[in-house]
Amino acid sequence: MEDNFGRKIEYLRLSVTDRCNLRCRYCMPAEGVEAIEHAEVLSYEELLRIASVATRLGVKKIRITGGEPLVRRGIVDFIREMAVLPTRPEITLTTNGIRLADMAVDLRKAGLSRVNVSLDTLKEERFVQITRREGLSKVLAGLEAADAAGLTPLKVNMVPLRGINHDEIADFARLTLDRTWEVRFIEFMPVSGGLEFTPEHMYPAADIMEQLAKVGKLVPLLRHGPAGPARLFHYPDSPGRIGVIPAVSDHFCGECNRLRITSDGRIRPCLFSTEEIDLREALRHTSSDGELEKLLRNAACIKPRRHHIGEESFLQGKRRMHGIGG
Ligand code: SAM
Repeated sequence: MEDNFGRKIEYLRLSVTDRCNLRCRYCMPAEGVEAIEHAEVLSYEELLRIASVATRLGVKKIRITGGEPLVRRGIVDFIREMAVLPTRPEITLTTNGIRLADMAVDLRKAGLSRVNVSLDTLKEERFVQITRREGLSKVLAGLEAADAAGLTPLKVNMVPLRGINHDEIADFARLTLDRTWEVRFIEFMPVSGGLEFTPEHMYPAADIMEQLAKVGKLVPLLRHGPAGPARLFHYPDSPGRIGVIPAVSDHFCGECNRLRITSDGRIRPCLFSTEEIDLREALRHTSSDGELEKLLRNAACIKPRRHHIGEESFLQGKRRMHGIGG
């Protein structure tokens, strides 16, 4: 499947829930979160059907996301079933790590290849400040468990926020000096209107690079395998890698190979566009996969050439990040 700009769509981000066990200040409000009704959330059977059709159209990698995917009951069995699809997609998952220590071995056995763990601070008090919940020690245990279970290469995603946690960039980078982890710094995207963090909190990639230089000389790495959004580096003689993702300041739209499916069955051709295509109606009312194929192809066709976040014309969508899956 290709879009109108010749980009091959090979990566699907599948959100399995909009619910989360944290309340990160830049992603969700403290209270009054309007959860999607259960009946509107896609069943595992429906999600499997999407995975099956998408992989037949050329999708090679499926990332399970949310909300927090590890809070949805039955997630391990779902992964086990997806792993044996005849098309054999690579299955990865993005998690906040709270439940990872208990689940890492089962996830690996089910066929998950690796995980990205979101973590924005290594300080307990700050963890509570940012996520509005306790749990840093659980996430750290989750990282070790995922590593031990072979969910590797393990990626740690940090969103630096000016004045909140940007002073920890170097501490996160030092994790790569004696671990094989890839620590990735992702620019804050000022997308969810009304939350406490504003464009002023954005800590741009150029400033991230300055912080990283304090740890040592950063050597750029050539990318192997499929293109991803991260600019990769390492410190000489260290086993880990550093990734910097300039999602806003220097978009990677030209290389974007992904479609997103929300947990209520909408296809999002671009994280930052408000356009969505309803897949659920077809999933629930047609038995033929041809219609689903057509809708996925249509979504690829309306994938914009690039996003316009940060520009005056940028329109904020109604969905927050936890409702899309990041
Ligand atoms: N619960 C899972 C997790 O924590 O990884 C998956 C969903 S979460 C929405 C996915 C990612 O989106 C997290 O790494 C989170 O930090 C990131 N995220 C949410 N809002 C963001 C924003 N405004 N800018 C940048 N990243 C954001």
